[in-house]
Amino acid sequence: AKAGGRDRIAVFDPSMYTAAVKEAEGRTDLERGLANNEFVVNYQPIVDLPSGKLVGVEALARWQHPERGLVAPDAFIAQAERTGLIVALGAHILRVACFEVAGWQRDIPGAENVRVSINLSARQFQEKDLVDMVRSALTDSGIRPDLVVLEITESLLMQDVDATVITLHELRDLGVRIAIDDFGTGYSSLSYLRRFPIDILKIDKAFIDGITIDSDDATLAEAVVGLGKALRLSTVAEGIEHIDQQSMLSDLGVTYGQGYLFAKPGTADEIAEMVREHYG
Ligand code: C2E
Ligand code: CA
Ligand code: CA
Ligand code: CA
Repeated sequence: AKAGGRDRIAVFDPSMYTAAVKEAEGRTDLERGLANNEFVVNYQPIVDLPSGKLVGVEALARWQHPERGLVAPDAFIAQAERTGLIVALGAHILRVACFEVAGWQRDIPGAENVRVSINLSARQFQEKDLVDMVRSALTDSGIRPDLVVLEITESLLMQDVDATVITLHELRDLGVRIAIDDFGTGYSSLSYLRRFPIDILKIDKAFIDGITIDSDDATLAEAVVGLGKALRLSTVAEGIEHIDQQSMLSDLGVTYGQGYLFAKPGTADEIAEMVREHYG
């Protein structure tokens, strides 16, 4: 080893070194998990708000890790985004969700119009072949494009506006719908939102939590719903846990609901069974 190399190493902060090693190990583990097909899709029902009838499901990624057990997305999505592995992971989740839900539509009587919502990360929009990737998932699975909703976050809309508008139009031209996820947590204004081809606003759980106990929260939720109405969009309220939230949101005119009150996310088999019972 050369003396100069030793001098250079000496300027590193050991804690930074540890963090870098951890990041590298996490990346390797994610790559291994992807190669070993450890990522699966869970589904959470989305219901029509006044009636509670199941109209669709949201696909939610889970990592069936050989040592850590079932890992929730909060523990791996951010790192997958930092490392770029979200591109491969997101494509995998999209394909699996399209194939599984197309299977339910085919095999479960009455379920032919069940929709599937799939989360897309902003990082995936940097890929030139995003639209081709979505197109092949639709074609290969045979799912009806109008039954597929792509969920994107407000932060994506703040990035490269012109490029994002073009890509969203290309996706929409495939026949899919676009939802803004976690709506209200970003900075979108009415005039700003109008520039994007959007079909659905998903109101973040943070706005739903306090609506029945805090009049300020109720006013905020009402304003967000009003924004959706002004833009002629469907609205989905997330994180509904109590029946009084359901009735209040339904009275406000929110179209759809999602939350533990109706169902927690479940495995493909569990939710297929729920869909079967629902339409049976
Ligand atoms: P999200 O898209 O906002 O998904 C909703 C999250 O809220 C899910 O957490 C769901 O389990 C949880 N949830 C639903 N109803 C309730 C409720 O009534 N009460 C409470 N306390 N929680 C509720 P999950 O599955 O842990 O996912 C967390 C986040 O990870 C998602 O938030 C999404 O941003 C991200 N994510 C999940 N799957 C994917 C994926 O395939 N791709 C990308 N890019 N992100 C994903
Ligand atoms: Ca979502
Ligand atoms: Ca959300
Ligand atoms: Ca959320």
